[in-house]
Amino acid sequence: MNTNLKKLMRDFNTEQKCRDFLVRQRWNGQPVCPHCGYIKVYTIDKGKGFKCASPKCYKKFTVTVGTVMQASNIPLTTWLPAIYLIASHKKGISSVQLAKDLGVTQKTGWFMLHRIREFMKENNPEMLSGIVESDETYMAKKFRSDYKGLSEEQIEALQKDNFSQKNKGAVLGLAERISGRIIVQAFDSNNRQNVQAAIKKNVKEDTMLFTDESNLYKSGLDKYNHMTVNHSRREWVRAGIIHTNNVEAFWSVMKRGVYGIYHQISFKHLQAYCNEFSYRYNSRKISDGLRFELSLKNIEGRLTYKQLVHGKGQENKEG
Ligand SMILES: [Zn+2]
Repeated sequence: MNTNLKKLMRDFNTEQKCRDFLVRQRWNGQPVCPHCGYIKVYTIDKGKGFKCASPKCYKKFTVTVGTVMQASNIPLTTWLPAIYLIASHKKGISSVQLAKDLGVTQKTGWFMLHRIREFMKENNPEMLSGIVESDETYMAKKFRSDYKGLSEEQIEALQKDNFSQKNKGAVLGLAERISGRIIVQAFDSNNRQNVQAAIKKNVKEDTMLFTDESNLYKSGLDKYNHMTVNHSRREWVRAGIIHTNNVEAFWSVMKRGVYGIYHQISFKHLQAYCNEFSYRYNSRKISDGLRFELSLKNIEGRLTYKQLVHGKGQENKEG
């Protein structure tokens, strides 16, 4: 799809046009009952919804059932441009900016941003192989928003918690050299166990693994063809090809986004930010329109607002 925001607002200016488009994206134009999988359905409510034709089911549904857009009062004519904006801003977009652009409240903007980020997740990504760079970093030293809305006692308890003390927003990036694809994982800490478990989960054995000389990679990676550059001795590239420059370039984009656009992010959402930035990075060679379309094919994520705020019961103004 070759589009831009102006065209998108014009093409999707009614709820029905948005629904028709989602039916094409989600089901290739042929609705399937989300309750039982039956492929024969009736159109009801003047095209607003469907009814399963199976005598054992007969349930009604809409195109947004089971998606991040379900059961919100936000119209599809707002959801679609929001998805486009989030999918096409290379460094991310803040909820404040999103709310301004779409003419919604900041709370709604924040809610949509988190929901949309949820389906920017690659489920079961294919393992990396060939030449893979591995590098780790910390996204932030302190996440003030984790304390937002908590009482003094709760903050104290959280600070006593070892996990929170050690957590500095540790992330690991694994980049496949030839395809340019990256997988990014957030941890409570960048220790050897976490890092090596992530490598084993995401990188095929016998792969050429390029890292710096960090202790995180010492021993335990015998199944890989492991080669290093010595960053502490200011060596950035060895033998012309051994380096981790691609992951480092990714960190600089993500950090610029996190510090410049979002200012601060919280521990519990760090993986979602990693997903958002790696999603855009991995789709950097396709057009904004195609990225928008692909995002819509992955709309069945099921994140609730409750899960997002994790029982804190407070509107979170981060992002
Ligand atoms: Zn059914």
